[in-house]
Amino acid sequence: MGGPAMGDVARDRAAADAEALRAENHRLETLVRKQELDFKTLLEMANAINERSLDPRGIEAYLIYICNAVRGQFGVTKAHVLREAMDGEARRFVLNERGKTVFECPRDGEFARALALARGAVPLSGDPVANLPEAAQLKALDLETVAPLLRFADGKAELKGVLAIGRRLVKAPFAADDLQMFGLLGSIIAISLHNAELHRKAIVDNLTQVYSRGHFDLAMEAEISRAERYGGQHHSDEVRWVSLVMMDIDHFKRVNDTHGHPVGDAVLRMVAKALRQTVRKSDVVSRYGGEEFALIAPETNKEEAIRMAERLRQRVAAEAVALAGQSLSVTASFGVATYPNDAGDLRGLVAAADKALYAAKERGRNQVVAASGRERA
Ligand code: GH3
Ligand code: MG
Ligand code: MG
Repeated sequence: MGGPAMGDVARDRAAADAEALRAENHRLETLVRKQELDFKTLLEMANAINERSLDPRGIEAYLIYICNAVRGQFGVTKAHVLREAMDGEARRFVLNERGKTVFECPRDGEFARALALARGAVPLSGDPVANLPEAAQLKALDLETVAPLLRFADGKAELKGVLAIGRRLVKAPFAADDLQMFGLLGSIIAISLHNAELHRKAIVDNLTQVYSRGHFDLAMEAEISRAERYGGQHHSDEVRWVSLVMMDIDHFKRVNDTHGHPVGDAVLRMVAKALRQTVRKSDVVSRYGGEEFALIAPETNKEEAIRMAERLRQRVAAEAVALAGQSLSVTASFGVATYPNDAGDLRGLVAAADKALYAAKERGRNQVVAASGRERA
């Protein structure tokens, strides 16, 4: 009795179960698809970030790339990387906007420590940072979520900076798996940033902060092959110039002998700074040897290069380092050579500029001499 009725109930229940199962399947499928999508996004971003980490324009340009990529991919109003800055002995993380420091916190302070311990991304209004003054300061800058840039080495976690992001443009606040993504991204950026810093150390001269000799050789090679490839290709009369300026400080041994090596070092730093400030952004300044500097000027013909060397000569002579009770100035001699006027390859160009530099020394120093065209074989 009641059999058919019972059968109906069972059927209904089975149908409801089947429906619930379908719904659950659908939910899981969506979740898996979303995770696949997130994973793909993360992988693509990791590759792009790593690829750019040796951006020849430097680490700042690289960080700007990262922030733009994060903003675009995650659809957030803002993205910033807080980087470590040295201010005397005080190490801190800073956030610069348009050349101005708008936020800073001590590297070993509570905020940084809390983030490092969290190991992943956290909302500024949640544990463990909500009650710290830094969270309020960052929120006032329209930022909402932070992720530590953690690099793991020698069994220790090193905090290299902080990724801070703003509001989401489309969806509601970040879910737990979004936060996980940001945490992972933080680790990827940390490794990449570390690589970029190591690379920079390897190609920049520690004393003068201009490029080292090794980088000069590579940059020169690259510029000449670029000029070879593009020069005269579309219009037969089009020439791509690369100029090379070699510079050697005059009587530098006397500076060391009279004032000691630390003063000599200060003079080298001063000269390098003057060079960096006088040239164009695309020019490559490097320390070629002890007190010799080399400057690569792409797309620069001989007349322009001579004018540039003359500007450099005047600037170096006008600089001075302050010593107790007096100031010390130096002069320098310059040799200029241009591809393809004076040589057809790297070695030839360096030899031509060297020879011109030697002539400048011979003629009395503190002057610019240009190479006089290719020598006949
Ligand atoms: P010139 O006008 O003919 O170039 O004379 P100079 O004395 O500059 O030439 P020289 O090549 O004889 O001397 C270069 C000196 O540069 C020798 C060395 O003591 C000094 N020097 C090279 N590297 C460094 C450095 O890293 N620091 C300091 N303080 N001195 C250096
Ligand atoms: Mg020398
Ligand atoms: Mg010298």
